[in-house]
Amino acid sequence: MENASEEHEFLDSEIRCSYAWSTGEIVGGFLEALRDRGVILGAECGGCGSVFVPPQSYCEQCGGAMKDWREVGPRGVVLSWARVPEQFEGAPLEAPFRYVLVRLAGADTSMLHVTPDDERVKTGVTVVPEFKERRTGAITDIRWFVPEEQ
Ligand SMILES: [Zn+2]
Repeated sequence: MENASEEHEFLDSEIRCSYAWSTGEIVGGFLEALRDRGVILGAECGGCGSVFVPPQSYCEQCGGAMKDWREVGPRGVVLSWARVPEQFEGAPLEAPFRYVLVRLAGADTSMLHVTPDDERVKTGVTVVPEFKERRTGAITDIRWFVPEEQ
């Protein structure tokens, strides 16, 4: 039964909590390779052979399970980009910087990452990753991508 006179009160608040997230075998293998070897791995689909970077457990094209690792890159091509001119909470870098969608050599998917705010970063430009010296097993072990020196 509906109560037409029912009123709702709203309380604006924020809840923060820390948590641990299990990466699982596929993402864990990808992050371990970044940390321990400074290489980028893609996962190859057992059904259609597509190489996913970052890797995922199942293929979104054919539904097949991933069967093998493939080292990709390190060179990649910028498919799209966006300049971030001002700082925001949770930003991966101090602004200004650029988000880039990179298709690494040997991959069939694209990966979102960051670059410095460099005018040379445009669609079609070849970029290479710069790894941090001290890596922890996170996507940020790749500090950023930079335009390949000609
Ligand atoms: Zn597939």
